[in-house]
Amino acid sequence: MTKSSYIQLEADALRKNIAFLKRRYGKRVEISSVVKANAYGHGIEEMIPLLENQGIEHFSVFDFSEAVRVQRSLRKPATIMIMGWISDHDIDNAIERGFEFFIFNQERLKKALSYAKILGKQAKIHLEVETGMNRSGIDSSELTEVVSFILENQKHLKVAGFCTHLAGAESIGNHKRIMYQLKKYKALLKRATEMGLEPGVRHVANSAASLVYPKSRFDMVRVGILQYGFWPSMETFIQYTSDKVNKNDPLDRILSWKSRIMTIKEVKTGEFIGYGISYLAQNNVQTALVPVGYSGGYSRTLSNKGRVLINGHRCGVIGVVNMNMIIVDITNVPNAKVNDEVVLIGKQGDLEIKVKSFSDYSDMLNYEILAHMPDNIERKVIL
Ligand SMILES: *Cc1c(COP(=O)(O)O)cnc(C)c1O
Repeated sequence: MTKSSYIQLEADALRKNIAFLKRRYGKRVEISSVVKANAYGHGIEEMIPLLENQGIEHFSVFDFSEAVRVQRSLRKPATIMIMGWISDHDIDNAIERGFEFFIFNQERLKKALSYAKILGKQAKIHLEVETGMNRSGIDSSELTEVVSFILENQKHLKVAGFCTHLAGAESIGNHKRIMYQLKKYKALLKRATEMGLEPGVRHVANSAASLVYPKSRFDMVRVGILQYGFWPSMETFIQYTSDKVNKNDPLDRILSWKSRIMTIKEVKTGEFIGYGISYLAQNNVQTALVPVGYSGGYSRTLSNKGRVLINGHRCGVIGVVNMNMIIVDITNVPNAKVNDEVVLIGKQGDLEIKVKSFSDYSDMLNYEILAHMPDNIERKVIL
């Protein structure tokens, strides 16, 4: 361990999660594995081969640079779909490399066409339509114009998909809005196909929608958080289990995050520990310094609240989270030594620190915590 912490990935957990999802969706629905934000902090380079082993052949990313990383990690042909950012000068590279990408406005459609002409290669586009999220997408009022434009330029534009994104399927409070979006999507799809457009792969659902609204699955689901073993929200989990006899979580966390004790100290009653005066030792305290702080993804909001595991004991974070370090209370851990393993997320003995407990203490979404996992640390895959 050269770096001060490392991430461990369990291939078995991924196998279980993907098998569960395939069972839910059935054979006719393809899974596009969403690996944006460095595969939700898991690591693109490590996750792609593991996902390939589970039969995944379609990957979704946010931007061009992630698409390149996915492509370099592939061992066999697969589809790479960019849902978001491509700078203008990378659109030709995207076409050249065979990436598929979302068209969410006319500017990008025109750019795609002009580059496809120059390259003499078809641009593979996914028409993203606006159905009520009001974030991005071709508006209903532009649809006729856009579809005509595509039909006139079919030589250079290949419609690989027709899609939209739902505004919060993880919360039951949005039910009406989601139903409206699905209705609108179908209406736009009908209009486009009636004009003669071959829509390609129809895709709408993210993780939450793919479970809660089976009708939103169409040909393909874009699944992020679930494949990593997390629920989009507590509500989604409750909705999923409500009609099941077995209320156990069918998903397993793939990721663990670990570090080591850097040094140990004895602190006397009445002394302050760490920066400022946020922690006053009420007794004689033994502390361990752990070399992970907010610059490495350990949120400052866990100051005086976070928990780690050392030698099978739960230990609380003392004082504020520093830029590169935390101090933890090991008074009740017998025989703790320098270099002992510290579990920040994951299991040790019978105990477990879940990402969920992070979010409970820190008011962060599990998405957010995962996305803040450091990029540049070692990832060990347990096959
Ligand atoms: C991130 C994202 C997804 C995946 O979301 P999850 O909730 O993690 O499944 C799907 N579609 C789009 C457009 C996204 O940006």
